[in-house]
Formats: sequence, structure tokens, C-alpha cells
Amino acid sequence: MGSKRPRRHGERFTCVCCSRPVPTAAYGTRNRNHCPACLWSRHVDDAIGDRNSGCNQPMEPIAITVGRSGEWSIVHRCTGCGQLRHNRIAGDDMEMPLLALALRPLANPAFPLDALPSGHP
Ligand SMILES: [Zn+2]
Ligand SMILES: [Zn+2]
Repeated sequence: MGSKRPRRHGERFTCVCCSRPVPTAAYGTRNRNHCPACLWSRHVDDAIGDRNSGCNQPMEPIAITVGRSGEWSIVHRCTGCGQLRHNRIAGDDMEMPLLALALRPLANPAFPLDALPSGHP
């Protein structure tokens, strides 16, 4: 219990969504847990990097948040237990899937946009 196995260089995991091999060490993070191409993750941690969760279900990227420093994070929701988690984006995450995620609410607004005040009375 609680023993840390040594982190080998070149450790990688297979993306749950697109089956791409993803190295866990990436520019900007040493605990990459999501795919740079489709941004899906997997529920393997209780706390970041501990690999102690028994859930192991795929985690869907559902939103982008911007922190106080202006840094982007991805919000993941576990498809197994529903837990929400924030993850810093990695330096080599692809821009298009990140932008698509950030723009998703604008592309699919939950209310009609023409109901918004126009600012031109
Ligand atoms: Zn993927
Ligand atoms: Zn879970």
C-alpha cells in the first residue's frame, strides 16, 4: 500500500478513445493523463498522479476552464462514476480539439441567441 513504483522513462498508455499511444511525460507536465488528439482521459487517480483509483473508466472531456493565471484546464467527467476533474493542458495538446471543446457551448447554445439583448435599443 502506498509504495510508489519508479516512473520509467518513456512510459506510455493507450488512449481509451482513439487508441493512440500517449507518453505520460510531456512538455509542461509530468503526469499527462489525457490524449493530445482527442483529450479523453481515464479515471486512474484518486489524487493527481497516484494511480490509486479502482474506477478505471474513460473520462470524457466536457469543458475548458481558464485559471487565474490565464492557464487553460480541461474538465473531465468520468463515464463510470461521474466524478469531475480539472487537468492542466499539456504543452503538446493539439489546438483544434481544445478549441472545439472551448467553443462547444457557443456552437450548441442551451438557449436561443436571438433572445439576448442586442445592445442597440
Ligand atoms: Zn485519443
Ligand atoms: Zn470514475
